[in-house]
Amino acid sequence: MDTVIRTDFELDEGIDFTDVEQIKHGLVTSMVRGVGFDPASATEHDWFLALASLLRGHLSEKGMMTSRAQYGSDTKRVYYLSLEFLTGRRLVKHLLDLGIESAVRAALRELGQDLDRVAEQESDAALGNGGLGRLAACFLDSMATHGYPGYGYGIRYEFGMFSQTIENGQQVEHPESWLRNGNPWEIVRHNVSYPVRFGGHIVCFRDEGGEERCRWVDANEVIAEAYDLKETGYGGAYGCNLRLWSARATQDFDLSYFNEGNYIEAVKDKTTSENLSKVLYPMDTTLMGQELRLKQEYFFVSASLQDILARFFKVHKDPKQIPAKIVIQLNDTHPALAVPEMMRLLMDNHALSWDAAWDITRDTFAYTNHTLLPEALETWPVAMLEAILPRHLEIIYKINYGFLQQVRRAFPGDVAMLRRMSLIDEDTHRVRMAHLAVVGSRRVNGVAALHTKLLRERVFPDFDAFFPEKFVNVTNGITQRRWLLQSNPPLAALVSETIGEGWLTDLDRLRDLEKLADDPAFQDRFLTIKAGAKARAAALIAERCGVVVSTASLFDIQIKRIHEYKRQLLNIMQVIARYNAIRRDPKAVMTPRTVIFGGKAAPGYYVAKKIIRLINDVAETINHDPAVRDLLKVVFVPNYNVSTAEILIPSCDLSEQISTAGTEASGTGNMKFALNGALTIGTLDGANIEIREEVGDDNIFIFGHTAQEVSQIKAQGYDPWSWYAADDEMRTVIDMIRDGFFSTEEPDRYRPIADALLGSDTYLVLADFRSYMDAQKAVDGLYTNQRVWARQAILNIARVGKFSSDRAIHTYAKDIWGVRPMDALS
Ligand SMILES: *Cc1c(COP(=O)(O)O)cnc(C)c1O
Repeated sequence: MDTVIRTDFELDEGIDFTDVEQIKHGLVTSMVRGVGFDPASATEHDWFLALASLLRGHLSEKGMMTSRAQYGSDTKRVYYLSLEFLTGRRLVKHLLDLGIESAVRAALRELGQDLDRVAEQESDAALGNGGLGRLAACFLDSMATHGYPGYGYGIRYEFGMFSQTIENGQQVEHPESWLRNGNPWEIVRHNVSYPVRFGGHIVCFRDEGGEERCRWVDANEVIAEAYDLKETGYGGAYGCNLRLWSARATQDFDLSYFNEGNYIEAVKDKTTSENLSKVLYPMDTTLMGQELRLKQEYFFVSASLQDILARFFKVHKDPKQIPAKIVIQLNDTHPALAVPEMMRLLMDNHALSWDAAWDITRDTFAYTNHTLLPEALETWPVAMLEAILPRHLEIIYKINYGFLQQVRRAFPGDVAMLRRMSLIDEDTHRVRMAHLAVVGSRRVNGVAALHTKLLRERVFPDFDAFFPEKFVNVTNGITQRRWLLQSNPPLAALVSETIGEGWLTDLDRLRDLEKLADDPAFQDRFLTIKAGAKARAAALIAERCGVVVSTASLFDIQIKRIHEYKRQLLNIMQVIARYNAIRRDPKAVMTPRTVIFGGKAAPGYYVAKKIIRLINDVAETINHDPAVRDLLKVVFVPNYNVSTAEILIPSCDLSEQISTAGTEASGTGNMKFALNGALTIGTLDGANIEIREEVGDDNIFIFGHTAQEVSQIKAQGYDPWSWYAADDEMRTVIDMIRDGFFSTEEPDRYRPIADALLGSDTYLVLADFRSYMDAQKAVDGLYTNQRVWARQAILNIARVGKFSSDRAIHTYAKDIWGVRPMDALS
């Protein structure tokens, strides 16, 4: 008898999430049948699990509808390949997206639970280092919200970003096993798995048509297994999928060893293979030359491309259609191996000719560059690639050969140019992955106007001359749904009450707040909300740092990765100068401040870790000096991550964005703060420049040398000593650091820092110190007038609409991807 498969089920037997009684019933059922506990004795964590699994079913259903619509209309899809996705917690985001937060809160309350506390049971998905990974998370949110057919690919690291504690002033790293208690959001797809190969060698021959063909043989194999996370967009109409790959050994045991009784050897291969998705590399600005990193990159790229092509060939026959149906965005250079991998799959698995495969490949990829720092530009030793990915090295050579022939034709006789542009650095015998990504993509973008300009002028001038159309700018953005609606509910409510809810999907609407900037009643409401956020942050600080801070003080915040180019050192020097001023004359300092630091240093980055220790030593001295009273407090909040950011950012009065001009590609922290009504003190670097353009020169504190001036100073031979000699206040500060004022038990502790400042001072801390101090003085002055301060803060909120990730995604869609939002789902 034939079975008729029905696909038109009305999936309405689920819960009506607007009905508190039904949610309660659903929660209790989920607790008993899913989590397996008695609701009478369940913990907050059990309630989190019960709620998450209840929602997961709902999200799957939404995801299925989106997916059916995409297949149905055969839309072009956007694949976002990123080695990092810093998504943070998901529960509240899903509730807000679906518009069911208050109903769920009420249901939990009737069950004796508090939603906020239940939500805190979730561990942060910290699958990223910082800005780059958070950008990927904001982009998924914007794509899902606006109905772009987006799809994220990454790695399901078993251990995400390490968690940080501060012990004796120093950073201590702890493994972050975020999956320890399971991940209720993920759906494992045992049936979606692909082999990924390493090692072996290649055998080449000519086919009947005379085309050279190669086979990759004798390679080792690892299995990539898919785990899916359903991303909701605001309004819940669409969703998109985030597929993370986990490595599984092809065999659990090598039986020959096992039979000899050697259990350890028997499982060694398994352990080695599964290491591929074990841990996120905790370095964001230096190249990690390790073989394991290269293997991670290839593992995730290969699995993703196999999956993308499998989906394509499910409904299409002709590979020439690929660029019309698929666009693959490379989030930084890490996934650049996607270019030769696409070539390999098309030629070796789908029998395309080189030329046909190359036309398709070049038209399918786009590449986002995220850094100007030379130490972060990825290169791999030729020998390493040859051993691990021999087929890909061969393909890279051939791409390079064809490319350099073209360059030679365009610029005859310029051998130096050929050497500079080559995908292979002939001096160091390394493969330049950024060159590979540029050559293999139709568009290359920088992430802020200045960054794109410097990319074209300093990093890729030859490529810019050769491919004049290829380089474009898309300034980064942040999602207002997470960074205002979710993280600052009172301010979000005030905005919605005042101008309606349009800003949630169109941030330019915030301009309607401009007219209220001078309204004393509105200013008062803003200041009251700010005070509430400060009280919340103060509670967090008391809990994590054991320091009581006054919410009447100016909250001055610098939270981001600890790196010399971001210049936390400049900030702590300013703090020391302020401390000295208070000791000289307490009446000279009129504005009480709380200076808040947070951020992780890469575990092997010695100087960054010293800077953390210095901040903590300075804090210890100042916070215990009775002469300082309430005029100054310094705290280092441990374990900065998305959830910590959500609490600190709304509380901020002054946002520190003080990198050396020409070093920060964009920054996104700067945008989150301004959106929450903080004023920025910053250099003309990254997106700060565009923030100034938007909010107006009078509503931001700009200081320091410009990118152009920085390079001039360096070209002329920068001499930090002359700056040191010319500034008494700065000299005192540096001498105190050098001579152990903050480390009496070990006077030489910070001598290396002082020596480096007076030696090369690579990031021009000394050259910008005076201008920074002047800007800080202006901050103090303005803060004494709360009306004027509030006015400027409100103007910041009103004018940062440009920095929504929605704007960024619309720009990518139009200028780079050539995709349009799907029609509204019925
Ligand atoms: C936004 C964000 C960053 C990026 O901050 P920058 O100031 O742009 O470097 C890093 N980490 C977390 C947790 C973030 O939310």
